[in-house]
Order: sequence, then C-alpha cells, then structure tokens
Amino acid sequence: MAGKKRVQLEFLGTGTSSGLPVPGCRCRVCKSADPHDSRMRSSVVVRNGRRNIVIDTGPEFRLQCLRADLDNVDAVVFTHGHVDHTSGFDDIRAFSFFKNRTVPVFGDAGTLRTLRERFRYIWRARQRGGGLPQIELFEIDGPFAAAGLEMIPIPVFHGVMPILGFRIGDLAYLTDVSGIPDASLPLLENLGALIVSCARTRPHETHFNLADVKRLSRALKPGRTLVTHIAHYFSHRDLVAALPAAANPAYDGLRVDIEV
Ligand SMILES: [Zn+2]
Ligand SMILES: [Zn+2]
Ligand SMILES: [Zn+2]
Repeated sequence: MAGKKRVQLEFLGTGTSSGLPVPGCRCRVCKSADPHDSRMRSSVVVRNGRRNIVIDTGPEFRLQCLRADLDNVDAVVFTHGHVDHTSGFDDIRAFSFFKNRTVPVFGDAGTLRTLRERFRYIWRARQRGGGLPQIELFEIDGPFAAAGLEMIPIPVFHGVMPILGFRIGDLAYLTDVSGIPDASLPLLENLGALIVSCARTRPHETHFNLADVKRLSRALKPGRTLVTHIAHYFSHRDLVAALPAAANPAYDGLRVDIEV
C-alpha cells in the first residue's frame, strides 16, 4: 500500500544463554560447519521504516548491531533482566552519547530495577566524559508505543519468574518462556508468526522443550512458528527434521515481515 511503512523483524541472535558454539565444547553441534549453528545470544531488531526497536541487549549487542548494519537504535525493549538479555546494554551509548540523543528504554519493574543495579554508574557518574549512555527508562504497565510502533506486552512465565513477551501486529515474540497464563492466550490469537524459545527435548524448569513448542503451535495455529534461544542439543538440521511443516528454527540474520 502506498505510503505504508514496512515493518520487519530481524533475528540478531538465536542462541541460548551460552551462545553457540559453547567455548570448550567439542560436541557435533558446537563443531558444526553449518553457519546456521553459530548463534549469538537471543535478540531481535524490529525495523519500522527507518526506525529500529531492539528487543534485549545481550553480550554480543555491539557485534549484532554491526552485523545487522544498524544506523540507529530508537528504542530498546526488554523481555527480562537475565544477563544473556541485558549485559550488552552499555553499548547503547554508540546510539545515544555519540549521536547526542536520548534512547527510550522499556521494561517491567523488575527489569528496570536490574538495569539500575547492574549499570549503576549510568545514573551515578560524577564527571562528564567517558561516554555514558543517554537513556530514559519507562516502566511497562500495558500497551505502549516504541519508535512509532504499538507493542503489546504478553505476560508469561520463565520458571517462577514473570517476564514479558511482545505482540507487534500479527507477530508474537516469546523468548525464555516456560508457561503461558490463560489470561495471555487471547493476545496470541490470529498470529502470522509466532516466535518461541525451545531449550531441548527433555523437560526444562525454566524453558519450553520441543514437545511444549509443538503443543503451543498446534493450539495457537499461527501462520508459521519460528524457534529461538536454541542450545547445542539441536543442530539447525535436527530442528528442521523434528519440527512440523509450519515450524522452523530461526537463525541469526533471518528476517520476517510483520503485518501491522
Ligand atoms: Zn535467555
Ligand atoms: Zn556443544
Ligand atoms: Zn532468561
């Protein structure tokens, strides 16, 4: 449609908390020659025209920005405060301090508390210079706009920890999920794409396993399901073979169009 902005999600990382390959591991997946089996920590960028919204800033955030050739980051949105989703946060200063603009940062109350503790110096610095991130924190307590795009938070469980997934248009991004409360199910209806994390085949206390992902996909019937936060228990090819036809493993650099 003329004048309509193109919205597209790109996977910046699709690996579990250790990333793939795991340093020191000599398993067949970590030693795989298939580039799909090299996975940075899980994160995505949503491109809304020329504006970019990043969901989670793991330890490879800087490398991910370079690989995706991002000129700007206009908002950062967090699913939760775990290290593999937040530890690269300081590198947001490339898009704030050096470009002299304040980047809005969205998270639930617990995540914002974690950011304030882990990156205390951002708020406590006594002297200028040194390139502090220029950010403004916003607590998520319902749907909000990030860089011109409506984001609908989807409360889910990560073990006993309440965290957030997000719905953007006809796409839902649920990482580090092990349970979906009934109240969140209506937010997952009529999806073009469901992105969901999958730890392994065996049950896991804080992550969905393969059977959970298949069950969810059957129940929600999205146009397609893409699996992320992948560990070295699966090669890309293993997952292609193990998932039903409308489901696929994501990989770093994969792009998905979003209808908004
Ligand atoms: Zn994680
Ligand atoms: Zn391995
Ligand atoms: Zn986590």
